[in-house]
Amino acid sequence: MSKKMQNIPIAKPWIGEPEAEAARRAIMSGWVTQGPEVAGFEQEFAAYVGAKYACAVSNCTTALHLALLAVGVQPEDEVITVSHSYIATANSIRYCGAIPVFVDIEPQTYNINPVLIEDAISDRTRAILIVHQMGMPCDLKAILVIAKRYNLPLIEDAACAIGSEILWDGQWEKIGKPHGDIACFSFHPRKVITTGDGGMITTNNPDWDQQFRLWRQHGMSVPDTVRHGAKQVIFESYPMLGYNYRMTDIQAAVGREQLKRLPEILERRRYLAQRYHHQLADIPGLKLPTEPTWAKSNWQSYCIRLSPQYDQRQLMQAMLDAGIGTRRGIMCAHREPAYEHEAWSCGVARANCDCSEQHCDLLTESEQVQDHAILLPLFHQMTEQEQDAVVNELKAACQMQI
Ligand SMILES: *Cc1c(COP(=O)(O)O)cnc(C)c1O
Repeated sequence: MSKKMQNIPIAKPWIGEPEAEAARRAIMSGWVTQGPEVAGFEQEFAAYVGAKYACAVSNCTTALHLALLAVGVQPEDEVITVSHSYIATANSIRYCGAIPVFVDIEPQTYNINPVLIEDAISDRTRAILIVHQMGMPCDLKAILVIAKRYNLPLIEDAACAIGSEILWDGQWEKIGKPHGDIACFSFHPRKVITTGDGGMITTNNPDWDQQFRLWRQHGMSVPDTVRHGAKQVIFESYPMLGYNYRMTDIQAAVGREQLKRLPEILERRRYLAQRYHHQLADIPGLKLPTEPTWAKSNWQSYCIRLSPQYDQRQLMQAMLDAGIGTRRGIMCAHREPAYEHEAWSCGVARANCDCSEQHCDLLTESEQVQDHAILLPLFHQMTEQEQDAVVNELKAACQMQI
């Protein structure tokens, strides 16, 4: 066995000198935690997505927590969401003491199936938390009709969706405008732009935006940025229970540089995704991702679904043996031990539900995608030769299994 060994990771942030220089600028300024760089990043981010307000926080999980609190989610409330997401989505609901009610996904976009939402609504439902999974926009129009009908706030987990777009009244608009009530973004290195760790909350509601700003800094009545510049002595107070969910100025300085790179990153990712579409089209038994006519993905992940003839783990191992990183399809929170003895629901009255740890009759599509999809490498610096190598290895690995 003498195979040319590749070294192609699943993802790699595009980050370098401009970001290092920006971090240096923040450090040398002497103000390193939340301050002027955070304020600048927020303004630039809000302008980019077309939101009135953007509030930077420590990561997307804390962003989701604050968004749920802002719309009034309380202990024992139910929040409708998907199990098929990174576990942070469902966890943020549990941080509020509330119960995640999982709705299955639809097979084309791997996003929440709007048709199934209404059945999951009960008199304890307090909010709907949807996920633009892997950067693919949800069917927001259809979901908003339901949210409005039941007077439920709509929160968008846009962790992966910076730069994704949706056709709205004839215009392409950015995810995060927001089209629901609040949208939450992540800047983890696995996402399209990164600040190491970081998050952003966008909304058009000034009261919520004010609330986020208080909560992220311990509920402090007068922020330190104001006290430091003041000519008079100011004593702050703490009128409410807050958190430390701040982004640092070092992170924000990096984020501002990443935002400048974003258009180029998106163009490249879309180009590489198109290239995958063409090159993988002739492998039998693969279902390639497709964009609905009203959506433009940022291709945060490129997810291929395998027909049952293929063994997911073996395919991934064959790729890994060739030096190519892949990941299985998006996880399902309801199958994790952290959810085993915890309150969650699939929308069926609990007495009538015989869901087990590994299987729920109402979440079969979510489970199928976890078990029969894989994510392929896709990142800005990926060369066409590297992409060809991924395609060739995948073809060879599939051939072995037929
Ligand atoms: C990554 C991710 C999160 C968590 O983001 P962090 O910034 O790491 O907290 C939440 N939801 C989804 C869908 C994600 O992909």
